[in-house]
Amino acid sequence: MADQDFPLIFEHSQESRTGFSLPELDVPEEDVDGLLGETLVRKTPAELPEVSELQIMRHYTALSTRNHGVDSGFYPLGSCTMKYNPKMNEDVARLTGFSHIHPLQPTETVQGALSLMYDLQETLTEITGMDTVTLQPAAGAHGEWTGLMMIRAYHEGSGDYNRTKVIVPDSAHGTNPASATVAGFEAVTVKSNERGLVDLEDLKRVVDDQTAALMLTNPNTLGLFEENIEEMASIIHEAGGKLYYDGANLNAILGYARPGDMGFDVVHLNLHKTFTGPHGGGGPGSGPVGVTAEFEPYLPKPILTKREDMFVFEYDRPKSIGRVKPYYGNFGINVRAYTYIRTMGAEGLKKVSEYAVLNANYMMRRLQKEYELPFDRHCKHEFILSGKRQKKLGVRTLDIAKRLLDFGYHPPTIYFPINVEEAIMAEPTETESKETLDAFVDAMLQIADEAKADPEKVQEAPHTTIVSRMDETTAARKPILRYIRED
Ligand SMILES: *Cc1c(COP(=O)(O)O)cnc(C)c1O
Repeated sequence: MADQDFPLIFEHSQESRTGFSLPELDVPEEDVDGLLGETLVRKTPAELPEVSELQIMRHYTALSTRNHGVDSGFYPLGSCTMKYNPKMNEDVARLTGFSHIHPLQPTETVQGALSLMYDLQETLTEITGMDTVTLQPAAGAHGEWTGLMMIRAYHEGSGDYNRTKVIVPDSAHGTNPASATVAGFEAVTVKSNERGLVDLEDLKRVVDDQTAALMLTNPNTLGLFEENIEEMASIIHEAGGKLYYDGANLNAILGYARPGDMGFDVVHLNLHKTFTGPHGGGGPGSGPVGVTAEFEPYLPKPILTKREDMFVFEYDRPKSIGRVKPYYGNFGINVRAYTYIRTMGAEGLKKVSEYAVLNANYMMRRLQKEYELPFDRHCKHEFILSGKRQKKLGVRTLDIAKRLLDFGYHPPTIYFPINVEEAIMAEPTETESKETLDAFVDAMLQIADEAKADPEKVQEAPHTTIVSRMDETTAARKPILRYIRED
């Protein structure tokens, strides 16, 4: 198994080789066992590789270079906003006044941190056009659930127990119907029309006195700005429902449009997308939720407020949906987002959206030469292609994605949204240069040529990666989750 290219650290193991040196034990070993207690002491030593510090260092360094990250290459993964995360954010998050404090510390001793949280709340309130914001939710889906729980508490608080349905467009991110279900609602689908927007006739058909809310992603998952928001808002509000805005795509509209001004009641943001929290490895996120004043009593508690000159947490909130997370949110990610917003400034944030939209449209128009464009109109921050033409030649969208790995790119999102055949969904973000966009488009156009002239080359890709194409079905059905010695 072991080879130079993929060193399995266990195979380098030599008996008694160590990567540490500890002083001699100066108490009897039995006493240590006694202190730990019977149940905590191993009967046999753990089977760990016995290697030197240098070997383990090389092992992990080698593994780290086999990952693709936004710091190593272009990452146009649609719906994910894989933009560059400025390193200044990291410096600020590591200031000891932020990183060495404890959530149980008396609030008088952490006024600086609370001041940052308060300012971030105020800033996000301004950016979204809502009345107030909570920083508690840990990510986008968690924000959705939090917002829906508030909508539920609101309806029940008005004595309306009949509102059991949440309307979700068929183009929505998968987390939307999932959050609605977990929040105890029935998710009802509203169709998109041939232009990729919510079909108003279908919306009128599915709305009724059981509608708790409409969850809308805007710009939607096709990268298109929903044109009929005001009409949708009045349809839903007239039926007594509330409007939920999935703001994970805010990168497209910063400083240009605000959910609050469009009539939305509840909105969540993904700070780890739009506001440069590093993400992609399942790490911590932050999904603040903004609401209008009528939802304020239902916010998760405690809420952070200012009393005279002190920031304090207020716990006496009888209508609150309760805590949604231990302590006060993913503070470190919030520090990064705050740093980003302050370094960009209001004008800078507008530019973010301008360039994000410009980059997406530039790529889309160049790629249109070879790839089917199902919705031929200006897009916002991302766009959808279809690999239909290539499929006729026997090359599937999956093959195209795998071939892109040979060029050193992370592929776009594929087979999503599900309402587009052989979908390819790309989001370049504002932080990429024209040269990078051009090089990526050239690679895509070359792959389209290969699909015609040499389809096998694409079908058998990737050719240059450490691991070739994986058998994903077997990997899912029979996962090998730990090292098994072959002897
Ligand atoms: C990413 C995303 C979500 C989910 O956010 P998580 O932080 O991954 O839970 C929801 N909606 C849209 C449109 C998204 O792009």
